[in-house]
Amino acid sequence: MTSTPPLLFSSLSLHPATLTNLAQLGYAEMTPIQAASLPAALAGRDLIAQAQTGSGKTAAFGLALLERLNPRRFAVQALVLCPTRELADQVTVEIRRLARALDNIKVVTLCGGVALRGQRASLENGAHIVVGTPGRVMDHLARGTLALEALNTLVLDEADRMLDMGFFDDIATVTQQCPPERQTLLFSATYPPGIERLAQQFMRSPERITVQAPVTESLIEQRFYEVTRATRFATVAKLLNHFRPVSTLAFCNTKQQCKDLVGYLQQQGFSALALYGELEQRERDQVLAQFANRSTSVLVATDVASRGIDIKELEAVINVDITPDPEVHVHRIGRTGRAGESGLALSLASLDEMGAVGKIEQYQNIPSVWHKLEELTPTGAGPLLPPMVTLQILGGRKEKIRPGDVLGALTADATFAREQIGKITVTDFTTFVAVQRELALAALQKLNNGKVKGKSVKARLL
Ligand code: AMP
Repeated sequence: MTSTPPLLFSSLSLHPATLTNLAQLGYAEMTPIQAASLPAALAGRDLIAQAQTGSGKTAAFGLALLERLNPRRFAVQALVLCPTRELADQVTVEIRRLARALDNIKVVTLCGGVALRGQRASLENGAHIVVGTPGRVMDHLARGTLALEALNTLVLDEADRMLDMGFFDDIATVTQQCPPERQTLLFSATYPPGIERLAQQFMRSPERITVQAPVTESLIEQRFYEVTRATRFATVAKLLNHFRPVSTLAFCNTKQQCKDLVGYLQQQGFSALALYGELEQRERDQVLAQFANRSTSVLVATDVASRGIDIKELEAVINVDITPDPEVHVHRIGRTGRAGESGLALSLASLDEMGAVGKIEQYQNIPSVWHKLEELTPTGAGPLLPPMVTLQILGGRKEKIRPGDVLGALTADATFAREQIGKITVTDFTTFVAVQRELALAALQKLNNGKVKGKSVKARLL
């Protein structure tokens, strides 16, 4: 832990345009991880920083790599390796946001599941920053479509997750192709032994940065409930009816448990979807879009599948099964209560899970607070329904559809107000648009009868 760090971005030597941009973005003060890591990162030091999604870590490395970038040099100067495509997409969005006040900086995302050809074209057009998953980045290096000779900054984001996913060798291969005099910034929520191996092989006397675990100082309220195998799923339903969170991420330890729980919840009238490994990318995109745009109340996920998801406004996390790994527990519940919002972390434990609960208590150094199932009385009128519904338009990035085109089609002739339309997610072949539940049919009609980008489109209700 460094000594009391400065909290204002203006205390750092950042480009004046960046400072103005940060103020416009509403980043008034640095988050703890930013305050602890930016001075050393801007001074060019290698860093190993302990940080979770939601801590502001992307800006911590994003600001550092942007500061060293020369926009007039058309070569890849920074590479960010991420474990998943979702995280890579989020990192790209955040870097673009941070860079918007600077000259024309090109950020290219390189992930699997997307045709190589388009990526190659983007690289040929000149990229200053590449954000990608190790496998696909390696692929481009092997094909000679990506060169790293001009690289200044290498970032390993969520390094622990990349190691979990077996990317050590890929990371090593990519790193060996970076110039040795680069800066390396490693971010990780946990420190498995592989992190030390990475540090020893690829980093130069890195500064180590930890900020107090966000959980203990955050506004996450943890409640534990004792259940049996027979009452576990029914208890999840009771929690939902009692707390009525708009968005809940429910963790199960196995894929089968996810499937079973989703089946149960759907049968009980909840809007729930499952996210587990083995879903095709398209299915995964669809599930995530529906959850992120608040048209699905509950996302039931395994730990592996949930990696890299960054959904804002997650009111609750439910640990349907207790994880045997206390670090995973902390990671799970850290998904709620972000950025000063309060969050609920509800954990269901049967007698045979009490050992795991004990380990969690020791790890967090806080006693578990147990609540009685009888407290879980239904509140509110009627079933829990999500506020939005999703309309799917057949056509996406390949058809050059942008969110603004869809918004334009819906708000033309003042049929709908901008506030009635939610998140618009454009993927390669399809577009998801959230609208307020009451407007579903009218909006569907408007899309099917009108035009998006001058063309008729087909839309359906999901
Ligand atoms: P991250 O941990 O990088 O995923 O960031 C979590 C969220 O916090 C992102 O939506 C950022 O836009 C936001 N954020 C990052 N830094 C700040 C800051 N200093 N003040 C306010 N919000 C921030």
